[in-house]
Amino acid sequence: MPIDHWISGARVPGASGRTAPVHDPATGRVTGEVALASVGEVDAAVKTATAAARDWRTSSLSRRAAVLFAFRELLHARTDELATIVTAEHGKVLSDAVGEIARGLENVEFATGVPQLLKGGFSEQAASGVDVYSIRQPLGVVAGITPFNFPVMVPLWMCANAIACGNAFVLKPSEKDPSASLFLAELWKEAGLPDGVFTVVHGDKEAVDALLDHEDVAALSFVGSTPIAKYIYERGTANGKRVQALGGAKNHALVLPDADVDMAADAIVSAAYGAAGERCMALSVAVAVGGVGDELVTAISSRLPKLTVGPGAAEGTDMGPLITREHRDKVAGYVAAGAEAGATVVVDGREQEVPADGFFLGMTLLDDVTPDMTVYRDEIFGPVLSVVRVDTYDEGLALINRNQYANGTAIFTRDGGAARRFQNEVEVGMVGINVPIPVPVAYYSFGGWKDSLFGDTHMYGPEGINFFTRGKVVTQRWPDPATSSVDLGFPRTR
Ligand code: NAD
Repeated sequence: MPIDHWISGARVPGASGRTAPVHDPATGRVTGEVALASVGEVDAAVKTATAAARDWRTSSLSRRAAVLFAFRELLHARTDELATIVTAEHGKVLSDAVGEIARGLENVEFATGVPQLLKGGFSEQAASGVDVYSIRQPLGVVAGITPFNFPVMVPLWMCANAIACGNAFVLKPSEKDPSASLFLAELWKEAGLPDGVFTVVHGDKEAVDALLDHEDVAALSFVGSTPIAKYIYERGTANGKRVQALGGAKNHALVLPDADVDMAADAIVSAAYGAAGERCMALSVAVAVGGVGDELVTAISSRLPKLTVGPGAAEGTDMGPLITREHRDKVAGYVAAGAEAGATVVVDGREQEVPADGFFLGMTLLDDVTPDMTVYRDEIFGPVLSVVRVDTYDEGLALINRNQYANGTAIFTRDGGAARRFQNEVEVGMVGINVPIPVPVAYYSFGGWKDSLFGDTHMYGPEGINFFTRGKVVTQRWPDPATSSVDLGFPRTR
């Protein structure tokens, strides 16, 4: 089935002659052919978005809020349909797809508050007879380039605020699971959003480069792997655009000797293997401090046999397949490399019984992992959890702070003082205290440090509103016979 672009409020078949296959990862079968846009097609899409942005920026805040409320209702009502589309192309279990949509929905709810969010400041009588006020205005056309692992939530992180702020938004979703974006487009239209304000262009590097170079694209919001994030940031900013580019991750859980080990093990298993480890906030390293290592490894490994690996749409499945065959084989290769480098393979996902078709791999637990091993150094993005043993809190902290990535982390302890110290000392953007996946709620902002974020604005929440607008300050005075006089001096505030 062809998967089209969405331009000017309608599906538009690809005209470049290039397409890419889309698979159902649970069966391995090709289920669609996504169009890959040419430079000319991207240009045509941006032109319609530019025209739409001119009108949309003049729409009243109440009208924008009304569209967002309607979109929120539709998304809520049709969550199950959308979740089915996500599972069919991504592979994650249905309940996880529903959870992804629910977290995306929070961003739409946040954006419904746009009349409040865009309030500026006002200073009456900043000088005699003079008032000063600040306003925030839309940028025009803004683009979002998104990864395969959250085909609904990450686009919603971006487009809800971008549109609420009065911009036109052009989405270039992942070519691996592109269909959810078209479902979102239809809901936006049904919600009353004018044609051209939400656009979808599918594609690969050619389409992304066309957006990076297009003179009418004012800003780019990117989420994906670190090498591409860096590339997007460098090329986008070199072209004078505002860019926020979120990259990859290697998230550590620091487990102190006083932790509630059962609670920590439940949390770590959920965060390491949920969505087959294909989450940028997955915990992929457990750092066991002092004597807690043996008990922790036993507690984690005892939980794994109870979990079922299978098709995401099947009843009772806990973990679905990986996104592609190549990725599955790459992750299995990391398990082999870890074993070869001297890690203890406590549970070997390659030996677990999984459906023969599709891109499945079982859950792996590696103990005695050391920082020089590739399983520790690289972002694996699969169901592989490494346990690194250290003697002290300081050693654990230093390990985390040395890592190139700094997206999320979590500490497990009953000691409030230790947790508070960790929150202060750890060099990571999002911190959980006995919370394994500390994705901030929509009224805060999401973002890592170091190689997990290029640019200085985090995603969504208040920083998202700032990213999609630019500030202007107006200084005004009105004719007032009482204060009017000729004065060639520099205007003063006092
Ligand atoms: P990816 O970097 O391969 O792709 C992301 C987007 O970039 C896609 O739309 C893709 O088409 C495009 N792209 C890929 N190669 C390109 C190139 N050479 N030039 C221009 N564009 C290109 O990432 P992915 O595999 O889709 O997603 C997984 C990655 O995303 C992981 O590294 C994960 O940690 C990261 N991620 C990060 C966050 C975060 O918030 N920090 C959230 C989700 C995912």
